[in-house]
Amino acid sequence: MEQTMSRSLFDEVMVPCYAPMEMIPVRGEGASVWDQQGKHYIDFAGGIAVSCLGHAHPAMVNALTEQANKLWHLSNVMTNEPALALAKRLTEISFAEKVFFANSGAEANEAALKLARRIAFEKHGAEKSEIIAFSQGFHGRTFFTVTVGGQAAYSDGFGPKPQDVTHLDYNDLAALEAHISDKTCAVMMEPLQGEGGIITPSDAFVQGVRALCDKHDALLIFDEVQTGNGRTGHFYAYQGQGVTPDILTTAKSLGGGFPIGAMLTTSALAAHMKVGTHGSTYGGNPLACAVANAVIDVVSTDEVLAGVKVRETWFREGLGKINEKYQLFSEIRGQGLLLGGALNDAWQGRARDILIAAGQEGLLVLVAGPNVVRFTPSLVISQQEVEQGLERLERAIASLAV
Ligand SMILES: *Cc1c(COP(=O)(O)O)cnc(C)c1O
Repeated sequence: MEQTMSRSLFDEVMVPCYAPMEMIPVRGEGASVWDQQGKHYIDFAGGIAVSCLGHAHPAMVNALTEQANKLWHLSNVMTNEPALALAKRLTEISFAEKVFFANSGAEANEAALKLARRIAFEKHGAEKSEIIAFSQGFHGRTFFTVTVGGQAAYSDGFGPKPQDVTHLDYNDLAALEAHISDKTCAVMMEPLQGEGGIITPSDAFVQGVRALCDKHDALLIFDEVQTGNGRTGHFYAYQGQGVTPDILTTAKSLGGGFPIGAMLTTSALAAHMKVGTHGSTYGGNPLACAVANAVIDVVSTDEVLAGVKVRETWFREGLGKINEKYQLFSEIRGQGLLLGGALNDAWQGRARDILIAAGQEGLLVLVAGPNVVRFTPSLVISQQEVEQGLERLERAIASLAV
């Protein structure tokens, strides 16, 4: 059956937003993936920081099949047990007191931005509408979120954009201090930029942003869609940065591969959303929430969170050894299992070549722009899988280094 589904069919029937690899994966288990021909891959990509427990983890499979036999969908006309349990859990594990469920990162961010605008509108009036965000930031692909994201190329060419969005340089506190004003409604940022190239902010920057938001009565929105759910070794990255946002968005690893997103906030801020202000047909879907509950049960343990830091050292040491031989990275950036190998001058623009060569050697990696090779594997990947993957990476680099 699978054999009749070929890569060429993609070009025939799919909207050409993507240029997928030639191979078509058909099965996964842990950090392993197999394609139609039975070729084995080690997965260092983790579905772009989504598959935090690898593929087909028993906790997720059990939660999904159990819920699949009970109840799939109701709409928000009624609440449901998995959604209530998940909301309670998220409030226990973070600063939040209230949760809004969506189906993706972009939708969670859309909710966050609408909430911030609504709060400013109600408390201060129409004048306070400016959203400040950062260059190279990424917040999703809806028109509002892509406009707030820091790459104009992604939001240009679609007609008039949502207004009053300003972009400043990430990690430049002086620029923010010079620009922010009482007309600023919110500052939106990733606590570590993912898509933009794995850029870690200084603690001074993050804490300075918090202080400036307080000074100007602007809300601080943390987009933890990529950094959240254990990826940095903290359940949420803000928990290691000495600040607390007003609104936090989470998705990707929250469902471990099942689509779900959530916006977290305080009771006082959530009170500005009334019945009918915002909504989502699937938000709080029982299947998604049952899986997310199972994911959090595993990921939030001290063992898994401490294990992320151990795995980070396996990656840093292994990548360091490869670099001694081939000298392609200027640095290994990031935190926990959100890591980026930044290419040096001699290798500029070759991140995608490495991705393709790695695929040929049986390894899945990601890029973050043209000059960063990104690694976002399962948070419970085994040492053997890491070693095997790094061997394949070395072979891929050797094939390009000639
Ligand atoms: C992936 C990502 C998003 C968008 O999430 P989708 O589920 O693709 O809508 C938003 N923000 C950040 C930081 C991301 O990494």
